[in-house]
Amino acid sequence: MEEYKRLVEEIRNCKKCPLYRTRKNAVPGEGPLDADVMLVGEAPGRKEDEQGRPFVGMAGKLLDAILEKVGMPRITVYITNVVKCRPPGNRDPKPDEIRACLPYLRRQIELVRPKIIVALGRISGKLLFEAAGLRWSGISKERGKLRDARVFGVDVRLIATYHPAAALYNPGLRDSIERDLAVVSRSRREADSRRRGTLEDFF
Ligand code: SF4
Repeated sequence: MEEYKRLVEEIRNCKKCPLYRTRKNAVPGEGPLDADVMLVGEAPGRKEDEQGRPFVGMAGKLLDAILEKVGMPRITVYITNVVKCRPPGNRDPKPDEIRACLPYLRRQIELVRPKIIVALGRISGKLLFEAAGLRWSGISKERGKLRDARVFGVDVRLIATYHPAAALYNPGLRDSIERDLAVVSRSRREADSRRRGTLEDFF
């Protein structure tokens, strides 16, 4: 817990890339530190920058609704972004900004040690697939499949899906996200019942 608090403080005071000049608040991430599932978006937007919390704008509300629907409420997952400060005008984060910020995501993954990581969108997908040594062929080809992977030294199941912001005005993409997160929720339930079964055998 102490290490996590230190990490949050570091992020809130970070000046390692030019995005600190235009942010109102850095957005470290939030959720239980023993979460099985970690969702990784690309960068905070306007509302997130104002509140210092991830996924609190319209895309966040859509994500909350989908998570609820697939039986994986938001309070049970850890949510963060690749880049912790808002790029001006919501542009894509630049490679040097991603490089500067990446050690924070790495430390979050090492601390939370999730069983499943969900990359939300193409930027997060490409980054996490490459970190795991997997080939990235674009979000529409790679989404929806759980893969065994080692991300920053942690063994996880890795899956990509569309970013909820892309689905705001596209019901087709919304359905895809729902299907992909249903895969995650099912896998988490199966792992839970295997764990419970093992414990019952033990006792
Ligand atoms: S985006 Fe990351 S590296 Fe850049 S200032 Fe914010 S916390 Fe620091």
